[in-house]
Amino acid sequence: MATLRLPQRLYQTLLEEARRNLPNECCGLLAGHGLEVERIFRARSALASPTAYEIRPRELFEIFRTLRAQKLELVGIYHSHPTGDNAPSARDRERAYYPDAAYLIVSPRQDAPQPVRAFFIREGGVRELPVEVVA
Ligand SMILES: [Zn+2]
Repeated sequence: MATLRLPQRLYQTLLEEARRNLPNECCGLLAGHGLEVERIFRARSALASPTAYEIRPRELFEIFRTLRAQKLELVGIYHSHPTGDNAPSARDRERAYYPDAAYLIVSPRQDAPQPVRAFFIREGGVRELPVEVVA
């Protein structure tokens, strides 16, 4: 089965980002090759909201340009859910414009059973992708 491979230090970065942006959602892109994450690109949410995020098109283009220049692929898009479950919301499903990208949702909650979860969202359908934290 397909598995997203996330280095331990980047897993920690995602948790730190989710906590640092409280009470709002954080967001950004994950780059690498295939389903191997190699780099995280933080983005600024245009919404500054605890229940939604939005990356401005200009910032997105800047990041995509850097990916091309560094011969990296878009692996996924991450954001956090400061409260509640870290599973895709109705809004997340509606606005999943990248069917080939993994959508990572991070929970900053201490009691989250799985603080980083990944999903493919295609035509509104959600499929969870196991995350393997690697050294
Ligand atoms: Zn969400």
